[in-house]
Amino acid sequence: METTRFKRVVLKLSGESLAGNQGFGIDLPTVDEIAAQIREIRNRGIDVAVVVGGGNIWRGLAGSTKGMDRAQADYMGMLATVMNSLALQSSLENVDVDTRVQSAIEMRQIAEPYIRRKAIRHLEKGRVVILAAGTGNPYFSTDTTAALRAAEIEADVILMAKKGVDGVYDSDPAKNPDAKRFDRLSYIEVLQKGLAVMDSTATSLCMDNKIPIIVFNIDHHENILKVAMGEDIGTIVAS
Ligand code: UDP
Repeated sequence: METTRFKRVVLKLSGESLAGNQGFGIDLPTVDEIAAQIREIRNRGIDVAVVVGGGNIWRGLAGSTKGMDRAQADYMGMLATVMNSLALQSSLENVDVDTRVQSAIEMRQIAEPYIRRKAIRHLEKGRVVILAAGTGNPYFSTDTTAALRAAEIEADVILMAKKGVDGVYDSDPAKNPDAKRFDRLSYIEVLQKGLAVMDSTATSLCMDNKIPIIVFNIDHHENILKVAMGEDIGTIVAS
């Protein structure tokens, strides 16, 4: 019988991972493939909360560098995550996975508001909870959202899906052929070396609350199931 290392996971999907090869927007066949993997995880009895990014549609920083007020641009980014969340919900429902979207910005017609106790209740009932609109605050990221929600719902781990890279390297593997991949890192090493795992706010939150992060490559969608089942792929960041 297969044994699982994790009981409850937060899966962080960057917006980019939903864009497929087009690099922008939502590629529905890609979202369908990811949904099929999430279904596999759920079928193995693992609680799954998904935090969805928005970078495939809009990034706050990009707007603010073009003269837009940063907070305004960030709210647009949060709205982008809601679009992605609804697309993922639709794909999950197409494969009969019970799903709830909870939004950190109230939008009653399309999503429940984020209520921690309710999110936990959904997970206990075997529903996949998609956490939309980030933290609801500008100047944060969906990485920070993943760290915050993982602490709140007492997840065992954050599964950090990356496109185009299979873990954390000491330099950019796309530019440096000698770049070395780490199997394991401490939070402090990530912060001190300035490694591009997640932003420093998110890393600090994980460090303070002892939440491990596993960075893995989502180009092969079956990696989502492998990593959730405890297979040693990617880089683990822990104490
Ligand atoms: N964002 C925000 N507060 C949050 C989460 C997200 O302001 O709590 C905004 C921010 O502008 C960010 C955008 O939403 O650039 C999209 O999120 P992110 O860049 O984290 O998405 P990803 O890189 O994972 O696709």
